[in-house]
Amino acid sequence: MLEEKLKIDKISKGTVIDHIDAGYALTILNLTGIDESKNLMTIGVNVSSKKYLTKDIIKIENVFLNETQMQQISILSPNATISLIENYKVIEKKKVELPQIIKKLILCVNQTCISNSEEPIDTEFLVLEEKPLKIQCIYCERIYKLEEIVFTSKEKKEKKVIQRLHL
Ligand SMILES: [Zn+2]
Repeated sequence: MLEEKLKIDKISKGTVIDHIDAGYALTILNLTGIDESKNLMTIGVNVSSKKYLTKDIIKIENVFLNETQMQQISILSPNATISLIENYKVIEKKKVELPQIIKKLILCVNQTCISNSEEPIDTEFLVLEEKPLKIQCIYCERIYKLEEIVFTSKEKKEKKVIQRLHL
């Protein structure tokens, strides 16, 4: 019944992030900086789902996501769908897409990597496998799994915040 209730509990305007991998909703909120918003949010964790058994879902009033936030979500939950709501209706629905190369969003923790040199250059990671995620730094070729990734979160108050995943 919980899922039915969440479906009925529509928002008038904003964003619904659905089909988030179960357990990732809070990490997504924190990483994207959405958790700093003062708008009403409804978060469902471990909601039963026909397709994936359980999933997480986030509804945020009056907030639309930017490209960076959508890419961050695609890294954490490649099956997520994002619906834009206006006047209680879905005006656009899209699936997040994990890019083949992830730029800037992730740090390479290898201190000798050129991306950590005196004159820093933007990091670039090649996606080797989507699920489970496996990415490789194009400069030093170090390979990372999802739980080893360190994000740079520039959305948070313009400061460069470094975040490590705690799953
Ligand atoms: Zn590197």
